[in-house]
Amino acid sequence: AKEQGRSRCLHFDAEMTEQVTRRLSIEKSIRKGLERDEFQVYYQPRINIFNGRLVGMEALVRWVPEHGAVVSPAEFIPVAEETGLIVALGERVLRLACAQMRIWADRGWGDLRMSVNISARQFQANLTERVAAALRDSGISPDSLELEITETTMMRDIGQTVLLLEQLNGMGLKIAIDDFGTGHSSLYYLKRFPISTLKIDRSFVRDIMKDDGDANIVSTIITMGHNLSLNVVAEGVETDEQLAFLRDKGCVEVQGFYYSRPVPAAEFEDFVLRHRS
Ligand code: C2E
Ligand code: CA
Ligand code: CA
Ligand code: CA
Repeated sequence: AKEQGRSRCLHFDAEMTEQVTRRLSIEKSIRKGLERDEFQVYYQPRINIFNGRLVGMEALVRWVPEHGAVVSPAEFIPVAEETGLIVALGERVLRLACAQMRIWADRGWGDLRMSVNISARQFQANLTERVAAALRDSGISPDSLELEITETTMMRDIGQTVLLLEQLNGMGLKIAIDDFGTGHSSLYYLKRFPISTLKIDRSFVRDIMKDDGDANIVSTIITMGHNLSLNVVAEGVETDEQLAFLRDKGCVEVQGFYYSRPVPAAEFEDFVLRHRS
């Protein structure tokens, strides 16, 4: 306790007080936002660049306060993760995304796949039950749901990861490794985890045209993923040049502003209609 007291004196300066205050106020507003149902889900299309077809969409949370502009996840996800509120928030997103998928399946779009981000704190023993309940309540087919889990989260506790992924895979869900390339997974685990998709982190795709290192990393991931029979998705595609590079390397699926930013459900429907006819 003495040790703690001393370090508090040393570090608890004005800047830190400000930071803590800010964090507390964000935490309080997240709670309020959850109570008031102010979180919405936006959708970003995932496209097969060889046949031009829409493969599915990623659900991305947005905070839409009653009065005020849309808040991006960078503003509140870190605090939600620190405080554990991400569990409630993630559950809300999962529920909203499944309910939306139900509506779209009823419209005849049941072949699309809904991808939902799962944070480290949600990736624990009760996740399977949570997901099973969300599937049951929405009535959507398990194979229309994909969970995106970051490489870092997966590598935290290999034993638990294998257990959880096998349960989820056994239920018929698809699993994607998100932000691939930023963590430390080995080929061994890529083979051992029952995953179906690798999502190449946007930081590599961003610089493929100007950084040979990044270009090499991206083409290596594509080849490796395909050798392991995985879907490979490149994130953050914005330009014709990036698209041409990825196509040339045989990357089948992409996501990015080139096709669409994440948009509210109604706007996503317009995108689907334009894309299907
Ligand atoms: P992420 O899972 O890697 O999601 C991709 C992010 O890249 C999204 O940012 C998306 O808008 C952005 N993006 C997609 N294409 C492009 C592009 O071409 N250019 C650029 N510059 N950006 C692009 P967003 O929606 O702001 O989300 C940021 C992060 O917040 C996500 O990264 C994810 O880690 C987290 N997040 C968002 N929604 C959820 C959620 O429901 N649950 C959890 N746990 N995390 C979420
Ligand atoms: Ca993601
Ligand atoms: Ca990602
Ligand atoms: Ca990311």
